[in-house]
Amino acid sequence: MNKRRLIIGGNWKMFKTPSEAVSAAKALKVKLVNIEHVDVVVCPPAIDIVSVREILKESSIKIAGQNMHWENEGAYTGEVSAGMLIDSGCEYIIIGHSERRHVFGETDGEVNKKVLKAFATGLKPILCVGETLDERNSGHTEDVVGRQVRAGLAGVVLSSPQQLVIAYEPVWAIGTGVNATPEQAEEAHCFIRKIVADVFDSSLADEICIQYGGSVKPANAEELLKNKNVDGALIGGASLDPEDFCSIIKIAEKF
Ligand code: PEP
Repeated sequence: MNKRRLIIGGNWKMFKTPSEAVSAAKALKVKLVNIEHVDVVVCPPAIDIVSVREILKESSIKIAGQNMHWENEGAYTGEVSAGMLIDSGCEYIIIGHSERRHVFGETDGEVNKKVLKAFATGLKPILCVGETLDERNSGHTEDVVGRQVRAGLAGVVLSSPQQLVIAYEPVWAIGTGVNATPEQAEEAHCFIRKIVADVFDSSLADEICIQYGGSVKPANAEELLKNKNVDGALIGGASLDPEDFCSIIKIAEKF
């Protein structure tokens, strides 16, 4: 098949105050006006989402939450719900980012509850999976990534491949400046696609977007994105600078 339509996400993590987020969104809106072949998603901190949506509402740039709770509402101080994110203008939700798993102790079971809630409410999950350096060095990459994909998707009924994005984000590459090589990324993405085919079916698996994340920057975007099974990127550090983020999107437009 032809290359799938790429999806480029910018994960702002816990950066940008509301006024900084508004400035960044204004810059993206202007710089990305002619982007046609790539889906662009920005993932601001929850407190910035409404003001970013206000700026981007007449653009094609979509918005994602960075995390959410699986309950509809309740006494969960500090959490946000799917309904809150949807009402604020989110179409996507990052689930199981390595910082949630490794800094905040999020388990596969919790990731799965969030994925199921996203499907139930119509948010499109960007399900993040990836191995640590120790897991890679001890030959356990496939065990870990396979387990995370299967556990994250348990009980999901997928009717359209557009409802789901998977991000392969090796933990050792996130925020370190050391990206996976194009060969390592392609190998992991092929493996993930095989697992997705097993969980759903091979025609859905063929169409699902699998992003790569981990120290993507303008200098390495082309070599990563040109791989057959790399369908975009989830970008942290380099998405904070609208100039760098847009350079990567313009590289993606070529594929
Ligand atoms: C991320 O936060 O998902 C990420 C990949 O970060 P970075 O691009 O900074 O490695």
